[in-house]
Amino acid sequence: MRTDHAPQARKNGQERTAKKKCIEQIEKGETPMSRTIVDTILPTTMVGSYPRPHWFTYQLHGRDIWDAFKDVNHAEAFEDAVRTVLRDQEQAGLDILTDGQMWFDDYGGCIGSFVWYWYERIHGFVPVKHSHPLVEGGNVSQNDAAWLTDWGATSVTDTVKRGPLRLVDLYHIAQRNTHKPVRCSVGAGPINLTYHVHLEHYKTQKDLAYALVPIFNAEMKEMVAGGATFLQLEDLGAWLPVLSGNTADFDWVVDVINKTVDGVDAKLSWHFCFGAAWGNASRGLFPSDAGYGSLLPHLHDTQIEQYVLDFAVREMEDAHILKDLPQDKEVAVGVIDVRNLQIETPEQVAQRIRKVLKFIQPERLTLTTDCGLRALPRFCAYNKLRAMVEGARIVRAEIAGGPGGKKRQPV
Ligand SMILES: [Zn+2]
Repeated sequence: MRTDHAPQARKNGQERTAKKKCIEQIEKGETPMSRTIVDTILPTTMVGSYPRPHWFTYQLHGRDIWDAFKDVNHAEAFEDAVRTVLRDQEQAGLDILTDGQMWFDDYGGCIGSFVWYWYERIHGFVPVKHSHPLVEGGNVSQNDAAWLTDWGATSVTDTVKRGPLRLVDLYHIAQRNTHKPVRCSVGAGPINLTYHVHLEHYKTQKDLAYALVPIFNAEMKEMVAGGATFLQLEDLGAWLPVLSGNTADFDWVVDVINKTVDGVDAKLSWHFCFGAAWGNASRGLFPSDAGYGSLLPHLHDTQIEQYVLDFAVREMEDAHILKDLPQDKEVAVGVIDVRNLQIETPEQVAQRIRKVLKFIQPERLTLTTDCGLRALPRFCAYNKLRAMVEGARIVRAEIAGGPGGKKRQPV
């Protein structure tokens, strides 16, 4: 870990209290309640990425950030860009921020290097963009073939080994530029990274996913040691058994997720949306007609506190499944549709929140965007966040019977 760039670990009294309470509950043999990051009821946040400011055009092109940042112009511009997107979120009123993933290059697939950041830095993958194996297989629609081709694929030709991913350093750059808590995006994760690969060195996606687990586990532990308190695994691997048509695959998917987060002492969330590529309108490869009900019950054995799910694009149509969430799980629901340019009104957002509150207590609910905002114009992204914050205020006031809302009970 680079100590010259490390700020003091951000540990406030509330987080210490939460952790102590969790330990006490475990010692008493009780199921620990979720960790609290902010004491606001219905806290607001966003999924990972945010539009780059137009002036920030530097690209990492597969380099270690500490190689690229030798260029002081790049280093300054990067941190200024991170500070800018944090400021946008603060100004919009979000409670929990992300760094906006300014480390994603302007690659195909509309959300930049969501998978390529990893393929370029984990030893064993080739950094060259190949045609996509699913397209070569020929069993996808014309539109899916188009966006998979835009996304591209790599080959894995050797044993995978940890490379200069530097997630803890990226966390430090963000956290030293805001007093609000920063949630770290970790992913695409080990299963997700098997979707866009020609398997040469490994026989199966499962073999490759297990091989990637220690790499992610080590990154996450290093982030926690560096002060991170909230990590979000972004791995659409939850859908793998739906794609394979074999429900037995849920067993190893759950096992991979648990091994990935094993011993990671932080609040842990897991984002798996219906996929947000250009114009896929929640259709794409993942079957929205089945909704989350087809997979969520298979995932409850994961050691994850919070699912992060997209609902706005389907106007919360299967929100009812949240009534069956086990007590040790909470949810961040997407109340902002990131797949169109229409900016929601606060009342529209409030309606979406009310639909969800029919099925889950407000203490277990966080509000977020359906997916990352990277593909949107910045004006649109910013104003969607403002609408979410205003919508949350409306509903908090309703819950509390007046402005201000009630406080979330610290655990
Ligand atoms: Zn997503």
